Order: sequence, then structure tokens, then C-alpha cells
Amino acid sequence: MRSVLPILVALLAVLALPPAALAAPTIVVNLGKYPSAQRAGTDEANVRWGDADPTDDTLCTEAFAALEAQRALRKMTGARNAFAIVDDRAAPAGDLILVGGLKSNALSARFAGALGVSQAELEKLGPEGYRIRSRDVGGRRSTLVAGGGRVGTLYGVYDFLHRLGVRWYAPGELHEEIPPRSLAYLPRFDVTESPRFLTRGFHAWENRGDPEFLLWMARNRLNYWCVEQEPKPLLHKLGIMLVGGGHILTQYYLGPNNPYPYDHPAFTGDEGKPRDPYPTSAEFRGDANGDGTLSYFEAHPEWYALIQGQRSSHIVGDGGDNFCTSNRDAMAEWMKNAVADLVEGRYKDAGLMNAWMLDAGRWCECAECRALGTPTDRNLLFVHEYAKAIKQAQAEGRLHRPVRLLFLAYADVLEPPTRPLPPDFDPETCIATYFPITRCYVHRFDDPHCSRNAAYVRHLYGWARDPERHYQGQICIGEYYNVSGYRCLPACFMSTMATDIPYYYARGARHFHYMHCTTKNWGNKALTNWQMARQLWDPGVNCEALWQDYFSGRYGPAAHPMRRFYESLEQMLGNVTELKYGLAGRLQSGAKELFPTTHLRYERTTYPKDDGPDLLEILEASRRCRQILDDVLRRRLPERVRQRVAEDERGFTYGERTLAFYDALARAYLRQREGKEAEARQAFREASKLAGLLKADTTSALHSSSHASAPDALAASYASGALTVLSSLLGPLEPEQVKAWDPARGPLTLTGKEFEGGGATRFGYVLHRYPEREKISDQGNYVYGQGSGLDRIHAWFRLEKRPEGEMALVLVGIKCPQPAGGEVLGEVRVNDTLVFSGSVPFAERDLTRHEVAVPAQALKEGVNRIEVRNTQPGGQVGNRPWFGIDRVELSAR
Ligand SMILES: [Zn+2]
Ligand SMILES: [Zn+2]
Repeated sequence: MRSVLPILVALLAVLALPPAALAAPTIVVNLGKYPSAQRAGTDEANVRWGDADPTDDTLCTEAFAALEAQRALRKMTGARNAFAIVDDRAAPAGDLILVGGLKSNALSARFAGALGVSQAELEKLGPEGYRIRSRDVGGRRSTLVAGGGRVGTLYGVYDFLHRLGVRWYAPGELHEEIPPRSLAYLPRFDVTESPRFLTRGFHAWENRGDPEFLLWMARNRLNYWCVEQEPKPLLHKLGIMLVGGGHILTQYYLGPNNPYPYDHPAFTGDEGKPRDPYPTSAEFRGDANGDGTLSYFEAHPEWYALIQGQRSSHIVGDGGDNFCTSNRDAMAEWMKNAVADLVEGRYKDAGLMNAWMLDAGRWCECAECRALGTPTDRNLLFVHEYAKAIKQAQAEGRLHRPVRLLFLAYADVLEPPTRPLPPDFDPETCIATYFPITRCYVHRFDDPHCSRNAAYVRHLYGWARDPERHYQGQICIGEYYNVSGYRCLPACFMSTMATDIPYYYARGARHFHYMHCTTKNWGNKALTNWQMARQLWDPGVNCEALWQDYFSGRYGPAAHPMRRFYESLEQMLGNVTELKYGLAGRLQSGAKELFPTTHLRYERTTYPKDDGPDLLEILEASRRCRQILDDVLRRRLPERVRQRVAEDERGFTYGERTLAFYDALARAYLRQREGKEAEARQAFREASKLAGLLKADTTSALHSSSHASAPDALAASYASGALTVLSSLLGPLEPEQVKAWDPARGPLTLTGKEFEGGGATRFGYVLHRYPEREKISDQGNYVYGQGSGLDRIHAWFRLEKRPEGEMALVLVGIKCPQPAGGEVLGEVRVNDTLVFSGSVPFAERDLTRHEVAVPAQALKEGVNRIEVRNTQPGGQVGNRPWFGIDRVELSAR
């Protein structure tokens, strides 16, 4: 009998609350010591996130959830003072919205019995799951929004608002859709939700998201972003996991040139450092570079990869040769530094780490390493060590939070493991991330008609489904909806996503992110992000219903044509991998075969397999998109819809011009090869005009990661160099504007600015003296080493008639060999005649003149061409070996 009494008291108390007339519900949340929800829900900077006591964390997030509910409901109803938020110790009259679970909200606990919700049931839903449950008790309606944890409560509030019609299609208020509605009496809810994909979001590593973007993520129940983002308390409040790591870790933890942190017994000068825990190696050679300090590599060459019999110190940033993972001391030192970084270093806020070795790095060839198996086998052992080191730090009380590890199934470690994993390998901590980079988006992932994707399907099967497989753990999918090469093109993946995401889920994937989400100015990319968020929460969601929601919600009266716009856009840019990773480079270099794959021909062709939209079909889709947009923008539309379409139009224009540019370049090449000079020149002229428009577009490719952004749309096209190749093939675009030279009337000067190609296409016309980087010319043009893609420049001049005698050609320039004091090889051609070949006779510090004789036979009446090439191998844009041309002077000899 004694146990019934409190329940009876509680029930009476519930019933004793006075019923209210038709007034807006009151929002009830635990405010703790705070005077208001505003203060409690925005005080994240003073919350101790991630310590052992979650009370303050919960209070902050749930008070914020109440604020979010209040803001949206007020906007929806126009009742600016309604939906008061009160503390859970108050006893408000009327209808209630109870925010928070039974543990955090006293009124939720009091109403739980009447609402039929228990704490155990909430906790079973996991930290991100929630219940939304309404009941009429004593003439008033109470709606409980309660999560298994604080984030579940926040998501519950967002879902509650979603069910009332609230949408956040993209960051920023313009993209918020809150339908006007009277809510004197809330509808009834009985919702139980938890996410199907546990990790949902975007791969990133830079502090590039603004609060609007982060808020958009939370409002769409996404939880994966990077630890480099500030302010971190906001991310904690919003339930966004902070992810660290990447290929850079080895550089941090075992960088060959990093100072050796111990007192090495065979080296003097480091006696102040801690005792060296590692034995001295037989390979120790002391301070090999004689700089007075000992680096990691100098202290322990045997820790590094054995490549062709030599220990390799080649680790530069993300790339190079992986350390010798069979060396226990090297592994121990790596782990020691990694744990310190998690405890108190750059990753002290990270809950997940990308536990990656070097990007497509080489693996050690020593006998002990080879005995450990393939690179994948060794990589799994490395991840296993990392997980063990984390567990040990947790057991020692140094690390107070769980940290999970995402390791790669990609490039050098794409093949599944070939041998059993250690028996204590922890599948909860270690998660494989499968990256199908440069997959095809014309075809869905598992389309048997696509051989490009078939290879990826095979690998995924090996990791995730093969009954004989050794790896039985979790799978994360790393998608590429804006891989760096796409450079923020306005692509659309709606139908491939509709089948791919459920497919990944069926293959066992429970984690998903993509590279490289833009953080602003989404335009039509909003659908990719919004659809992804909905599908990751529930891969069984009906995408047709999602699309109807998106198009009617975002575009109102223009829903129908805008849907056709997106569908046409998917046809226009579905072949984006072929366009950006194939065609652009071939146009850039003037490849002999511009359309070698059946996925992308120029004219419309069909194949039973590996068929994709060809360039002419792509352009047709582009024209269809343009027509739809122009029609829509001519209509009378609600202002916010008009602005959304205008944003889409700006992004689309970038894609439209990029494709038109490719087409004009392709036609110029094709006609030139057919001998149709006039048509080729006409196409070249078009391409040149489009290049000007692309160059002026400095905003379309801006808001992604440093990998996927570009200063302007021309640089983003990957094909700007095609203009130089074409000009070289077809002659100057405006032959009548080519400078005429009359040898009888004195010399002619062509400045670096009159030369096409070279570094100027990237860096403008300028020359510097290095290493000071002192400017010595503002009309010069850099010519980088062979293979750099910017290894030649050319210019034109006109002759009324061929001169009788030789011409003197004076080159004025500077060189920058690798290493200094070395040489840079070059060639000069006049028309088809080689007039110079060899070591370029410029000085390294100052502009120097060098005269070359040009025989009369090399010249012709009309337009003549001078080409200067850098033929020094090992060329890299922006790097030695280069030479610069300030000007060329022509005179009679
Ligand atoms: Zn080794
Ligand atoms: Zn394909």
C-alpha cells in the first residue's frame, strides 16, 4: 500500500492543475539555476561539456530546444508573446508542451504515467531517439517531447516542428519555411523515433561553418562535423560530434623532422629532456644533418619505412611513406603522442578520429612488416593498437570520454583484409570508412550497367557482406557529392541517392558522410543536403514524398516547373565525374581523343553498358534548365520563393557556362582537326568569351573546403589551359590586332604580357626574385618546368614581307633552377623552326639579356609565332625549376 500513495498524490496533483481556455500551450523545461530559458539555452560557453556530470549539458540543450520550439511556434501563429517557457517546478495552467525526459524535467516525470511514457522506454531509443506523445488529461492537452538523451530531446522538438510544417531546407532565414497556422489546440502526437544511420553529416577539417550552417545541421538531425570548427560549445549544445584526424596524424606524431623529445644516450645537447625510453638502434648515425639537434628520423631511422633497402624519411604533410608499423617502439611512440593529443592537445574535444595513415602512402618493405600481411592487414593492426591505447588511457583515468576510430577502406588499403583480425579487435571503437572516390553518378551505385561502379560494389561486398570476410565490424560510407574536382558545380543526385542510401543501409552501413559540403549559398545543392538528412535518419523514407515536400515547400507555386528543373539538372550534371575528371583534363592538354569513354561521347550515342549522357545531350538538358528558370523568374512569385529561385539561378549559371565552355573548346579542337579553320576559330572565340565570364565569377566555387573551392569559375573548370593550346594551334583570335613589325623602322618589343599561357594564367603577369620574393617585373610571365601544364608561352607578330637577312631575337628574363646554381633547360621556336635549345642563359638574381639569331627562312609574311618552352623535367606549377620572360625584342641583325 505504501508504494501506491505517491502515485495517487501525483495523479491528484495532475488533475488538480486548472484547465484553461483556448490559449497557446505553455512550454515547460528544466531551467535549473537560470532565471530564463533565454539565459539557460544560450549559456553553452559556461557548460562543462564532456565531464562526468551531464546535468548542465542536458539543461543547456533542452532549454535551447524549448527556445527553438517557442521561436517557430510564435512565427507560425503570429502570437508574439504566446508559448511562454516556464521552469519545470512551476505549475502552469492550460495546455502544456513538456520538453525533456523524465530525468531532467520534473513535470515530464509527473505526467509520464498519464502519458504512458517510461524512462526505460526512452533510454532504449538511444541518446538521439525520442518520443513525442500527447494525451488529454483533465481537460487539457499535454505534449511530451522527450529524448533518450538531451540530443534526442532537441531532435524531438525539431521533429515536432517538422510535423507542424516547419522546414529548414538550407541555412539562413530565407530558406526557412514556417506555414502560418493557428495552434490554440495542438494536434495529437504519438511518435517514436530513433536514427537508422548513427553518423550523419559532412567530412570536413576546417573552421568554415557559420552558426546558421551548424544550426541547419542540428535542425535536420545531422551530427557529424569537424573538431576544427569554432565555437565548440555551440557544436556540443547542438549534439554535433566533433571529428578530428586525417592523413596528417603521422606528420604530427612521428614526423621525421620533428625534434626527438628524449635524452638520447648517444647524443649530447639533449640532457634536459626526459629519459629515453627506447633502446638505441644499430642504425643510429647521430645528428646526420649536423644542425645540432636530433630529429625523430635521426634518432631512430629504423622506425621508418624500408623502401628499396633504404629507410625513408619521406613524410610530407598528408603524403609519403608510412612508418614501419612492425616496429614496436615506433608504434608505441605514435600512440603515446596520439593519446596526449586526445587528452590535452588539438583533439581534446574530439569524439571521433579519422585514424588514417598517409594518403595513398607506400608501406614498409621490411621482412617483419611483410610478415604482417597486406597494407590493409597492417592498417587494421595499427587501428587496433590505437584503440588499445585509447582504452588504456581511459582505464588510467587520463581520458574521460569515448573516442571512436574511423579507419580507411580506400586507395592503398581498399582491398579487404586477408587474414583474421586480433581476437580482441574492438568493433565498437573501430569503424571502416569506405570511400568510392570518382564513382559514377549517372548510374546508381549497384547498377550492373556501370563497370566504373562495379569495382566499388565488389570492394564493398568484400568489406561488408562476403560471408568469408575477416572484418565483421561497422561500415561508414564516405560519399562524394562535392568531391574536390566538382568544385561546387550545381549537381543534383536526387534519384541516385534515392536508391544508393537504402542500398548502403542494406549492406550494413550505419555511418555516412560526404565531401565537401558547401557551407553557404547552396542554391539547388540544398536538395542534396536536405534529402541526405531525411534519408539517413530513415533510409526507408519515401523519396517521392520527400521531393513533393521539398518542391512544394521551397518553391510554392513554382513547385512543378522547379521539379522539372532539378530533374533536368540531374541529366545535365549526373555525368560530372566524367566531365571533371576526364574531359576537362583532356581539353586542357588538347588530348588526341577527347571523348574516349562510352560514358561520355560528344554526339548522342547509346550503348547497352556504360552509357551516359553525351555532351550534346548534356547541353540539351542545360538549355532545358535555363528555359525553365527563365520562365519561372518571369512569373509573379512570393518574394522568398523568387529569391530562392534566383539563388538557384546563380549557381546554375556557373554550371551552364562551364559546360558551354567545354563544348566550345571541344568544337574548336574537333573542327581544327577536320581542317575547318574558320569554324574552329569561331568556336575558339566563343570559348574565349565564356572564359571571360567564368573568370569574373568569383563566388560560385567559394564556400567549400580548401580542396573543393576555387578563386574563380575559370580556375574551377580545370580547362583554362585549353585556350593557350588552341591559340597555339589556331593563331591569334584577333589577327588584325597582332603587332606589326617593320624591320626597317627599328626594333619591336613584345612584353611578357603579350605572351599567352605560362604562370600568368594562374598568377598574373609578375616576376619575383627568390627567396626574397622581391618583385622585379610587373609584365613578366613564369614558364614552369616540363609537365607542369604551364611549361610554355607564345606570342605573335606580323610581317608585311619576309626580311632579307637574319633577325635578332633578344630574350630578357631570369631563371630559378632546382637546386640554386643549377640549370634550367629551354627551347625557343619561331614558327616551326627551333632557334634555341639548351641551358637557358639567364642569371638567377637579375633580369639578363640573351640574343638568339633567327634565320630569314624561319620567318614568313603575315602572322609569325614565337614559342618559349621550359624543357627541364620535374615541373610543378608555382615551383622551381622555372624561368621568367620579362620581354622579347626583335631587331634586324
Ligand atoms: Zn617495417
Ligand atoms: Zn556509370
